[in-house]
Amino acid sequence: MSTYLDSLNEPQRQAVLQKDGPMIIIAGAGSGKTRVLTYRIAHLMKQGVDSFNILSLTFTNKAAKEMKARIASVVGNSESRNLWMGTFHSVFARILRTEADKLGFPTNFTIYDSQDSVRLISAIIKEKNLNREQYKPKQILGRISSFKNSLITVKAYFNNPELQEADLHASRPEVGNIYRTYVDRCFKAGAMDFDDLLLRTNELLARFPETLAKYQDRFRYIMVDEYQDTNHSQYIIVRALADKFGNICVVGDDSQSIYSFRGANIQNILNFQKDYPDVKTFKLEQNYRSTSNIVNAANSVIEKNKTKLDKEVWTSNDPGEAINVMRTISDGEEGRFVAQSIWENQMNHQLTPDDFCVLYRTNSQSRAIEDALRKKGIDYKIYGGISFYQRKEIKDILSYLRILINPNDEEALKRIINYPARGIGATTIDRLTIAANHYKKSIFDIIKYIDKIDLKINTGTKNKLRNFMTMMQSLQVESQTKNAFEIAETVVKKAQLIKDLEKDGTPEAVSKVENVQELLNGIKDFITDKIEEGGDTSLTTFLEDVALATDFDAKKEDDKPSVSLMTIHQSKGLEYMYVYVVGLEESLFPSAMSMNTRSELEEERRLFYVAITRAEKVAYLSYAQTRYRWGKLVDAEPSRFLEEIDDQYLNYITPKSTNPAINNFVDKSIFDDAPKGIRFQKPIQRKKMERDLVKKKEIIIPKNLKKVSQATSKPNLFDGNIVVGNFVEHNRFGTGEVIGLEGNGPNKKAEIKFGTVGKKKLLLQFAKLKVI
Ligand code: ATP
Ligand code: MG
Repeated sequence: MSTYLDSLNEPQRQAVLQKDGPMIIIAGAGSGKTRVLTYRIAHLMKQGVDSFNILSLTFTNKAAKEMKARIASVVGNSESRNLWMGTFHSVFARILRTEADKLGFPTNFTIYDSQDSVRLISAIIKEKNLNREQYKPKQILGRISSFKNSLITVKAYFNNPELQEADLHASRPEVGNIYRTYVDRCFKAGAMDFDDLLLRTNELLARFPETLAKYQDRFRYIMVDEYQDTNHSQYIIVRALADKFGNICVVGDDSQSIYSFRGANIQNILNFQKDYPDVKTFKLEQNYRSTSNIVNAANSVIEKNKTKLDKEVWTSNDPGEAINVMRTISDGEEGRFVAQSIWENQMNHQLTPDDFCVLYRTNSQSRAIEDALRKKGIDYKIYGGISFYQRKEIKDILSYLRILINPNDEEALKRIINYPARGIGATTIDRLTIAANHYKKSIFDIIKYIDKIDLKINTGTKNKLRNFMTMMQSLQVESQTKNAFEIAETVVKKAQLIKDLEKDGTPEAVSKVENVQELLNGIKDFITDKIEEGGDTSLTTFLEDVALATDFDAKKEDDKPSVSLMTIHQSKGLEYMYVYVVGLEESLFPSAMSMNTRSELEEERRLFYVAITRAEKVAYLSYAQTRYRWGKLVDAEPSRFLEEIDDQYLNYITPKSTNPAINNFVDKSIFDDAPKGIRFQKPIQRKKMERDLVKKKEIIIPKNLKKVSQATSKPNLFDGNIVVGNFVEHNRFGTGEVIGLEGNGPNKKAEIKFGTVGKKKLLLQFAKLKVI
């Protein structure tokens, strides 16, 4: 018996052995869904299925790479190399490269990233003289994106009175026209945005039956990971491709559907069962990733969601530590605490920084964590935020390269036509753009024929345009014979891209020059890798890899073991020994923008479920009592999600403050193993100590900190004047009678009999009870 089959439990093995027909695996976090997909592919190949006939769609390209490496260890490298694996976007971009001409696109089409798209939309809004407040480019792009992901073309939009009505209602009657112009411009520029990669694939498969048949024959076995987060456009592609053989295996977890804001549709799971009535359903229930405390705590949270499929998750792993809940005074303190805790855990348990991960709801939260880690000398890397390829100096070089491949690429051209400054001003660019639209040509073509058209451009500027064109054309000629690295190097030299930076000499400029060097190194690595893989080393392929790099695939400056920082959205499918989820505060998590409807709130809760279930051994949940948001210090309340975790899995700790003055009156150290009850000072005492310190001017208490200490001293929060027999009011459960009290300080709980939900044990510090 092969060893890989031995490393699976019974239901996992059955799913791996199920060779043909449609199948779906719906199972909770950490139950081995991705593992089953991986071994299933290996097993298919062992059974003689040609590796060319297998398509596997993953959430990141990195996940695909890791799966491939695993598969290679079972079937060998030469076979696994032929597998089609990657994100929807990268796989279908690859197909469009060979098929795009059928749709009227050049096969060397450019892929616009979201920055390019926003710039183009801004330009269109300006041309149409629309109000930028009313038509916010990012919002309009979001709307267009949602049309595309639902397969609503421009024509379909104009045939749909409801959609038009909605935009009219939102005082944006021009959305349809912007959409039309945007699509036209992209088409003319030979460019596709991210959503087009799916939309145009759908168009290709729908309009060209022989092309559809070709790919149906090719992809006889299709697998999709993280199926719960596919959108309509992706769903239709998968359905079309699997239509002939029906060998389709999807895996997912409805409780981890967290991308509905991008059009992901949880319904796809339910549709799947309708589309394939003979579907075989597999359930995996055993979690192998996490301690039982973590699994149970996560279950106790997700249980609160009304919309979910029935499934169990259990583990035979040890209980492990309780989940640590930490309260800190400010976001700065939170960062320092996390850094301190990571450092101590690393020392005490002989771990390396890559055993740790810090998760947050929004990107802007990373700053405080980064500062603290940097001060402690702990290496970290951030996923998301501005990726390497999005930096200005890098995008500028990439824009030159893009034009060499596709001279019609307007967004790239506009970026660099006057960079480095060569005296081609905004008015000239506007005139060129108008002429290009008028003659239905690209700006590049207009410049080529600048002597033949009267654009009221003066001779001096014309000369500058001519010089620019001469340079670009000579680079184009060179690009015919040089490899990607050589061309990039030539571009940097000829266009004098780092000359100014080198002269500048400021640390920022030096770091930009280093980034340019890093890009060149990156291209060299790309060529070496591709040669090894036997792949295509062309500039086109390089640019495509760059355009489709997800935040995870983006090039990192170095590969030292480091703490991973990322938003929860990006952490899907990953696992770390220690996980810190920070900023568990109302309005931050759940986000203020997602608290208005039950379905939004349920999505936030799923996000919280995803966060907790990333942890293998230990999880920390932290909240600050004050936080800088939008430049202001605001008071924060603990997140309702903390209250929702069954209390038996929690351990409340309050770290020693990093400010020694504050330490005198803040609770005992987290690493103190004193019993729960005496970890916290009595609020009254704390308040007095605080006042004394302020009087002695030993500390300056920010306004809000004062408020915090007042808040903590409200009698019913910790020491509580609630007694058995009181009637109390809870904001969700309504009125109830206190029938028991237990614990002390922040762990003090009241057992209450509510008229609505019966008996409940609530932590007083979260329950916000009013005695009535
Ligand atoms: P998620 O929902 O977070 O994507 P998942 O269901 O895809 O999780 P995996 O990542 O495949 O789960 O597995 C979680 C962890 O459990 C991995 O480290 C995996 O190697 C391990 N694992 C899964 N099944 C087994 C098994 N039968 N024996 C030992 N380890 C297993
Ligand atoms: Mg997975």
